[in-house]
Amino acid sequence: MRYAETGFNLEVDLTRGNIERVETDPRDTELYLGGLGTNAKILWDRVPPEVDAFSPENLLIFSAGLLCGTPATGCNRTIVTTISPQTKLMAFSMMGGFWAPELKYAGYDKVILRGKSPDLVYLWIHNDKVEIRDASHLKGKGAIETAELIRQELNEPKAQVAAIGLAGENRVYFASIEQGKSSASRGGIGAVMGDKRVKAIVVRGTKDIHVARPAEYFELCSEVLEYIKFREENPIPGVMPILAGLGSPQEMKIHDEKWHTESFMWGNSRHRRRDFWNDEIEEEWTETMENVQTRLISCYNCPLKCAATISIPGLPTYMMKCFTKLTYTMAAMSNLDFGLKIAQRATEYGVDGFSTPQVMAFALELYEDGILTDEDMPGLPADNAQGSEERFFWLLDRIVRREGIGDILANGTYWAAKEIGNGAEAYAHNTIKKHEQLPLKLSMLNPIYFLMYSTGAKINITQIEGQFPQAPFPTREEREEFVEDWFQVPDEKFKQYFLDWELRGENSFPYYPTVQMCCDIVDWQEKMHYIDDALGMCAGLSSFPLKPPYHIHNYPKFISAGAGIDMDEDKLTQAVKRYRTLVRAINIRRGMRRKDEKPPENHWKKRFPELEKELLDTYYRFKGWNDEGIPTKESLHELGLDYVSQDFIQRGILTDEEDN
Ligand code: SF4
Repeated sequence: MRYAETGFNLEVDLTRGNIERVETDPRDTELYLGGLGTNAKILWDRVPPEVDAFSPENLLIFSAGLLCGTPATGCNRTIVTTISPQTKLMAFSMMGGFWAPELKYAGYDKVILRGKSPDLVYLWIHNDKVEIRDASHLKGKGAIETAELIRQELNEPKAQVAAIGLAGENRVYFASIEQGKSSASRGGIGAVMGDKRVKAIVVRGTKDIHVARPAEYFELCSEVLEYIKFREENPIPGVMPILAGLGSPQEMKIHDEKWHTESFMWGNSRHRRRDFWNDEIEEEWTETMENVQTRLISCYNCPLKCAATISIPGLPTYMMKCFTKLTYTMAAMSNLDFGLKIAQRATEYGVDGFSTPQVMAFALELYEDGILTDEDMPGLPADNAQGSEERFFWLLDRIVRREGIGDILANGTYWAAKEIGNGAEAYAHNTIKKHEQLPLKLSMLNPIYFLMYSTGAKINITQIEGQFPQAPFPTREEREEFVEDWFQVPDEKFKQYFLDWELRGENSFPYYPTVQMCCDIVDWQEKMHYIDDALGMCAGLSSFPLKPPYHIHNYPKFISAGAGIDMDEDKLTQAVKRYRTLVRAINIRRGMRRKDEKPPENHWKKRFPELEKELLDTYYRFKGWNDEGIPTKESLHELGLDYVSQDFIQRGILTDEEDN
């Protein structure tokens, strides 16, 4: 018997209209866990580097994490994997909500789409019955609207629907897949779904998932719930409100936006507004939020209520996505009520809430500086008392339809700047590996974040960071208090790293934490995220917050008692290293090299080229990669990835003699 997982994938050939239920190899689960890990293995095996994002040979994989559908609190993530049209690399984007557990209950771990449907369709998975159905009547409909229409059409109010909007249908490079209160947004995965002509995947499942040792598993789950309760009652002192608790409640519960509004860039390349936040604005924004927020809601099996339904008079109700609350507001240099209004339309269109506002601000900056002209933007509304608000709606409508200038902007700032030329490239400065990033503008280089930004494969800093405090605490006493109950550390040395970290002087940024310490910290942070993405755990309960309920010490127990795989910390660390390296190998095979590994250009004002070189050199060695960032033959061998080095040798990426 298979535990925690179902042991079956659904393989759908959209070109032929063929559907197969395929049994998976349990040895792959041991080696790569599930979710992201096994997705990476499938992508390596079946999508060679010659295949581009919009090729029928590209796969679009929806995977429930290994422990989704079990009683583990917050374990509800769907990991969507494909080749990104924007970065040309592997994209893996996570969504919460309810979809992944439902897929497990229907009897499948993954849905793997290949080929392209001749017409717009949706997939209806109802336990053993799976159909490809006509979706021509849903063409152009919003993502949330589509979900509702399908539920009515099938008379299945409990069906979970992952759908694209107009942006996905039109292959906008930053199109998302929307589902419940959540979405998988990064990497343009919605564009790949649209390219395959799949409007939605609808799931309803009523089967059981078995765990290997139920009593032990329930005990572990209870411990997590107790800890969540404890942390709710005992937020961490000395850190900003959004980091003091668990989950990502800042959108809805926390109204103090001083840090976000004063540290993030407003517009695209405009200034930080250092003194923006004051009592008056806090009062106004709190009132705005409280007027439209109808209900706080959670993902499947989680008490944390990170999201809210938003009802603005005259607009359909929608659910606010993680971190979208401020992104439109700040890009348009506008107010919160505008941000909440445009987010409704953007959610229906199905676009990424980080990239989209930046692309629109970028276009307006090009226009203001004469690089784009009235000829490029016929009909652009005039700036008025509401600033750029109308212009933002105007641009959004054109981008998702790929109309006029919208067709160029729909490829994101990096590709649009190249096409526009005439100096436009200087305005597309907030990308990593051709993908828009969080628009932060800070002063002093942060060596830990430098490494995460440069080498992260997830292309989303909020999904790489966590575990280690972002800044030192001012006094030794505060630091001592913090480390006292810091049992989540994988090694006691991390406590010392933190204890000795000062705000100023020798032991401060950029030379402290030292290069070696930075490698240890980044590796720990990344490891936790990769475990989450294989198990299907929400980062908000594990890899993102400080002192989370899930950590390296209890995860092996969850895997052992849940999936029946004999697991300990070393074996888990080795498994994570294996599929993390495989993700890197996929990207290396697609041409990624050291030159691509850098943070957004003007992210920090004070840069240190020599230190940055040393950081990258040391981290590459630490990870078992050579100077170009290519995993070495030796490290691949240690991880049981000889098939990767053979492929690298055949392609001339590594040579036979190469051993370092
Ligand atoms: S912590 Fe928040 S985002 Fe995570 S599963 Fe719970 S409700 Fe969803």
